[in-house]
Amino acid sequence: MISELDELYKQVILDHNKNPRNFGVLNNANSHAKGHNPLCGDQLDLYLIIEDGIIKDVKFNGSGCAISKASASIMTSLIKGKTIDEAKKLFDEFHNLVTSDPEAEIDTSELGKLEVFCGVREFPARIKCASLPWHTLAQAINENSQTELVSTEN
Ligand code: ZN
Repeated sequence: MISELDELYKQVILDHNKNPRNFGVLNNANSHAKGHNPLCGDQLDLYLIIEDGIIKDVKFNGSGCAISKASASIMTSLIKGKTIDEAKKLFDEFHNLVTSDPEAEIDTSELGKLEVFCGVREFPARIKCASLPWHTLAQAINENSQTELVSTEN
């Protein structure tokens, strides 16, 4: 199971790094946030069009390592078309996942596409890279809706 996940992790990360989804700029975005991970040098701009509490469109731009880029690509695919509440739920699930004990059993059947981030737990230095897009999303959503997303990582 572990090696299966490991393989999935590598494949998905490589694929998204090579062909990032939703990469670019949204000129008509009504929500925008910038993220920076100084430990690795990852830079990220996230653009969202939020209408009636729904993420109608999302794009990201920037430069960073394979993990941060793949994470942004996967995240934007997951949140597109979702409500703000659903995006917040995904943020919580992602956060719980990457901060959990790498030895702990995880019910991957509940995770869907977030499953791939299980692999990140084994590389603590990479957690900030994988988290960057999510924290940038939290920032963009907070600015748009004035509601709080709480993060305990820093
Ligand atoms: Zn990075």
